[in-house]
Amino acid sequence: MFGRRMVLGRVLGFEIRADASWGILFLLILWSLASGFFPVMYPGVSAATAWALALLGTLGLFASLLLHELAHAVVARIHGVTVGGITLFLFGGAAEMESEPASPRAELLIAGAGPLASLGLAVGFYAATGLVALAGAPQPIVGLPYYLALVNLALAVFNLLPAFPMDGGRLLRATLWGLGRNLRRATKVASRMGQGFGLLLIAAGAFQAIAAQNLLGGMWWVLIGVFIHGNAGMTYRRLLDRLRLQGLTVRDVMTRDVVTVSPDVELNTCLRTMTEGGFRHLPVVDPEGEPMGMVSQRDFVALTFGQALRRMRGTARQGLRNLLKGGG
Ligand SMILES: [Zn+2]
Repeated sequence: MFGRRMVLGRVLGFEIRADASWGILFLLILWSLASGFFPVMYPGVSAATAWALALLGTLGLFASLLLHELAHAVVARIHGVTVGGITLFLFGGAAEMESEPASPRAELLIAGAGPLASLGLAVGFYAATGLVALAGAPQPIVGLPYYLALVNLALAVFNLLPAFPMDGGRLLRATLWGLGRNLRRATKVASRMGQGFGLLLIAAGAFQAIAAQNLLGGMWWVLIGVFIHGNAGMTYRRLLDRLRLQGLTVRDVMTRDVVTVSPDVELNTCLRTMTEGGFRHLPVVDPEGEPMGMVSQRDFVALTFGQALRRMRGTARQGLRNLLKGGG
């Protein structure tokens, strides 16, 4: 899913990485805060103050995003799901889980942890806004915790939309899974809703870009829609692959009519058996049927190639000797 990544550090044992695309998001948010949010909310704010507050706001947003993902990662770890790390990228953050939760309850808790953390942060920053205002701080500074309260609330609400693979979609899947006891069907419904939501975002974005003349904002929604649509479908396909192998053992796929060779069989006979039967490998068994080793076509190639090489070397040496004799 990700291209070039930079490791930012480790938190609670999780590697924190930034995808190259994350730089775009960082600049976009910084710019929209410095030229949009702060000057619009607080007319008359100086450009220097606006940029300084915008930088703090952007850093605060990424810290909030990281806490959201860390909440997922910690709860996942508690429930035995391996987390490969946390990556910040163009559309926010992702805790990369290397396996699926074992039960609907585990998935419910893992998926719920992120929005809950964002909601907690929203309340915290809202309280901080009141405190900063009470302390008599200048207006634009009050805007910083206020912005972070808003953005965390937005993060919680947006992530709770029932569109897989977003948190709300995972909550929906966990609920359906718990009710119907069928992970495949639950994932199918949740990912179809995710795909539908992705298409809806693409349409809304296109409308915004064309009809409302908001090209950048519209394109942004289109991109997020494409991302969600693609991811929802991919998650379902990956699950199908996993379920197809689940419960199967080697017994279910192994070859039953095994052709074996005895260690005393001549190589020519063995090679004939292999080429006629189309075998690349044959197990070697002793007269009691106990396995002793394997013989593969590659062994023959190595052997004949080695012989040919030795013969060539012998001929070359002989030729050289004859040449020297003739010359002397
Ligand atoms: Zn989340």
